[in-house]
Amino acid sequence: MRGRSFDLAVLGGGPAGMMAALCAARDSDVALVVDRIPQGDEFRRIDTVPARVLALLVDFGVDPRELGVDRLYEERLVAWSTATPQLFHLSPAAHLERPLLDRVLFSRVSCHPRIALFVSRAWARDDGMFWGDGWRARRLADATGRAAATADSVVRAERPWAARTLWQTYDPDGRGPGFGIAALPDGYAYRVEARRRVVVGFVGRGHGVEGTPAELAWRLRASGGGWLIADLPPVATFDEGRASTASVQWATPSMLNDGPRAVRIGDAALARDPMSAQGIGIACSEALFVSAIARAADLAMFEARQTEQRHVHLKALEAMIAGCLFSNEPTWRDYAAFVAAHAQGAPSDPPVALRDGKVVRLPGSHVAP
Ligand SMILES: Cc1cc2nc3c(=O)[nH]c(=O)nc-3n(C[C@H](O)[C@H](O)[C@H](O)COP(=O)(O)OP(=O)(O)OC[C@H]3O[C@@H](n4cnc5c(N)ncnc54)[C@H](O)[C@@H]3O)c2cc1C
Repeated sequence: MRGRSFDLAVLGGGPAGMMAALCAARDSDVALVVDRIPQGDEFRRIDTVPARVLALLVDFGVDPRELGVDRLYEERLVAWSTATPQLFHLSPAAHLERPLLDRVLFSRVSCHPRIALFVSRAWARDDGMFWGDGWRARRLADATGRAAATADSVVRAERPWAARTLWQTYDPDGRGPGFGIAALPDGYAYRVEARRRVVVGFVGRGHGVEGTPAELAWRLRASGGGWLIADLPPVATFDEGRASTASVQWATPSMLNDGPRAVRIGDAALARDPMSAQGIGIACSEALFVSAIARAADLAMFEARQTEQRHVHLKALEAMIAGCLFSNEPTWRDYAAFVAAHAQGAPSDPPVALRDGKVVRLPGSHVAP
């Protein structure tokens, strides 16, 4: 395990890891450790991101068309606290195909002269350094998503929610809102369109996600959400994407008091509930911080920022669940109890920011040492 020496190693080849590697490679050599090389054209889902995240990707040389983006969307049809959908006008959002985003970022990191790729899952901490198969580094960024490879433990609901995505090649007329969401007794269903596909996603527990596509569609109609799929081909004819875990979870702070500590970014720190549709944006924003975290004090400030953001997310989730038409159903009550148990404390604006490449405490804010 001697290997080549780097200032920074990044574990994980998702958006957070690849963006962190690209940012850090502006002024240092980076080891990017991925558990597999993205291959094939295995469509997974369409994710929505605020237009400013698209602008950040453009700064890194990504053409929006490479991500399947040909327009921005500003409207959403939402049936959350009412059975009838209501039209909301929101900030412009782009609809990205996954894994197109991952593949495009991978094409950038794999030809970057200052990023060395290692395919492995191994990492260790010893002698004041981090080690892996063929690399060693003074600093480590953990961007391993929900696996949170460096975490002592992960907090998640006793019965986590799952997400199933069904998709179809589709030619939208470009006039609809492109996004709709409907609350269900055991979760929620959403519909999202991009240039050449439509996804119908089911998120929840038990009946919310179990059964054949035809059964899921039948339950959606029976719960009053039929409007979401009324103009689509039969959902029973859709292809099935990869199922994933979807409820909120987060890594606990490290109990290690000596030696270097890894910085966790993206879903490895806090995997948000997709209701918030912020995962990619936050992952990219945290990736920008990685190069600036040079001292233990920077890491402490960054972790304080992540704690604040977790409070904010849990409080927002609490409010969304309370406002849901089906909040008295057992599935929603269980999730609400889990979120409420961890949402104590008064959230305030994150007191820490990145300024001129440095992690700084904003004026008037206090971070516990
Ligand atoms: C159903 C659903 C819908 C969503 N919709 C949206 C949306 O609309 N908008 C949005 O912004 N976000 C959305 N998200 C969230 C978004 O997908 C994530 O926040 C985002 O992918 C996080 O990126 P990441 O790089 O932190 O983690 P990931 O994308 O999970 O990447 C982690 C990578 O690390 C790898 N890995 C794991 N263990 C190791 C190891 N030991 N060594 C090396 N590599 C390892 C994994 O294989 C993976 O490639 C959604 C999530 C779900 C489940």
